[in-house]
Amino acid sequence: MHRTVTSYSAEDATRFRTNLDRQRAFQFGGLVVVVCAAILALVARATGSELLGLPFLFWGLLAAALLIAKILFLLIGWRCPACRARLGPTYTPRFCSDCGLELRSPGQD
Ligand SMILES: [Zn+2]
Repeated sequence: MHRTVTSYSAEDATRFRTNLDRQRAFQFGGLVVVVCAAILALVARATGSELLGLPFLFWGLLAAALLIAKILFLLIGWRCPACRARLGPTYTPRFCSDCGLELRSPGQD
């Protein structure tokens, strides 16, 4: 479903992009946390020893729980700041496929 491209004022477009930058930092930070937890789990599994005094089971469950939370945050939060359409799998979409909002600031590539 592709709607007609909506035109936003320059102020609104800038505000939307600022919101999206914040959301992107949050989403990317979440990804880093999940990857770190997964690495800790793998290290605990590979060495068969406790890591920071905690067993593999703890790190494995933590990584799994964080991954699930990350996916939920992605589904809920990774949306066009103007029309709330889903933005898809990339962290750097060029346009919203639904309302046509340009999602990268001029000069950003
Ligand atoms: Zn949109």
